[in-house]
Amino acid sequence: MRRHRRTKIVVTLGPSSSDRAMIARLFAAGADVFRINMSHTAHDKMRDLIAVIRSVEKEYERPIGILVDLQGPKLRVGTFLEDKVQLTQGASFVLDSDPKPGDQTRVHLPHPEILETLEPGHTVLLDDGKIRLTVTEASPRHATTRVEVGGPLSARKGVSLPDTTIGYGALTPKDRSDLEAALDAGIDWIALSFIQRPEDIAEAKKITRGRAAVMAKIEKPQAIAHLGEIMDLTDSLMVARGDLGVEMPLEKVPSLQKQMTRIGRRAGKPIVVATQMLESMITNPVPTRAEVSDVATAIYEGADAVMLSAESAAGRYPVEAVTMMNRIAEETEKDPNYRAIIQAQRAEPEATGADAIAAAARQVAETLDLSALVCWTSSGSTALRVARERPKPPVVAISPNVSTGRRLSLVWGVHCIVAEDARNQDDMVERACRMAFKDGFAKAGQRIIIVAGVPLGTPGATNMVRIAFVGADVIGDV
Ligand code: PGA
Ligand code: MN
Repeated sequence: MRRHRRTKIVVTLGPSSSDRAMIARLFAAGADVFRINMSHTAHDKMRDLIAVIRSVEKEYERPIGILVDLQGPKLRVGTFLEDKVQLTQGASFVLDSDPKPGDQTRVHLPHPEILETLEPGHTVLLDDGKIRLTVTEASPRHATTRVEVGGPLSARKGVSLPDTTIGYGALTPKDRSDLEAALDAGIDWIALSFIQRPEDIAEAKKITRGRAAVMAKIEKPQAIAHLGEIMDLTDSLMVARGDLGVEMPLEKVPSLQKQMTRIGRRAGKPIVVATQMLESMITNPVPTRAEVSDVATAIYEGADAVMLSAESAAGRYPVEAVTMMNRIAEETEKDPNYRAIIQAQRAEPEATGADAIAAAARQVAETLDLSALVCWTSSGSTALRVARERPKPPVVAISPNVSTGRRLSLVWGVHCIVAEDARNQDDMVERACRMAFKDGFAKAGQRIIIVAGVPLGTPGATNMVRIAFVGADVIGDV
């Protein structure tokens, strides 16, 4: 089974998509990576979902990525005496450390560290930004605010602090326990929510120790301010447009999305564009024109992956949503303008053997119109550098490590095959031809290009390019 598009699709699982038959249908429709959201999933359920995904993977004999998304420090207000209170513009409203139910003059903020960091002038957003407060007076246990934009407020609504750098890391005790459970269950990617600083990534990496790749969700202005350093440390970025559009003015989200897809391309690390991509498909079998256009825009920008959230997790049409994304990606990528845009944004190779060879292999493959660019990759780093070139022919990555295959399922254009390492160079060429043929990337009589590091299995040793002929018997090379 192969996809006929380069952009990958991340599909969030939830109540609408948790049984095996549905997960298999979503995979067949185009899901490359499944996302499990720990804000709504208990450990047992997570393990069940992972077992189901692994069994679908086995049935289709294709590596599937699993992304576990940690909740992060999601802040919430406490409770109220009444169901809801009404905050009116110009009134004063207090956030304090008193757990007593609140009223329209005050509420408990059950995060002492936040009360300690708030300062006069800081903005506090409540309920996805619907209510806006400005801090006028702050003490360690108490912050008085002025209501700038009022509205109804009920218990446990979310709190966002665009101006305040919170004095703790991105991993809460719940995140740590979720992360350990996810690593034990053998997942491939871990997403960190509400990160603020590069240290937050370093902290997670200390725990993962390479057992999963790390995705930084960019949804806070503090993270935008440190994007370069965060990019250096993380393995991937998610343009988390949901919370980003709460914490930043909405109209800034499109340019931030462009900025992130570009720095990701330069770094050669996968970028996921997320949230509200086909939002209306939660309740409708067909998306709006604007949504189709939004998905296409992310694809034209060269995003590695586009993501479905509630559409697949809690919506009525999960399969239709994946099918729609698959169709948008196939169609957009056929547009000659797509190739032109992708080419125009190509970053110069860095001064490494892997980059020089990736660039050369792409050029040879395009000049000779070869049918596939096949790379042998053990850690996946060669495949990442090849994908960074965004070559015109399909990229096939062969790895002996199943975890590499699963991680690469997020990466633009990479069709990964898990297979034993080659015994020698002849074996490497012969099997590359055979696998490219078997998965539909080369026909007999066509030629492919092969990239590898010899001896195989030495990380960072990409040093070989070879053009090979796919013989009628699917062996032999010239
Ligand atoms: P979430 O993250 O779905 O976990 O909130 C994505 C976003 O904020 O866009
Ligand atoms: Mn979010």
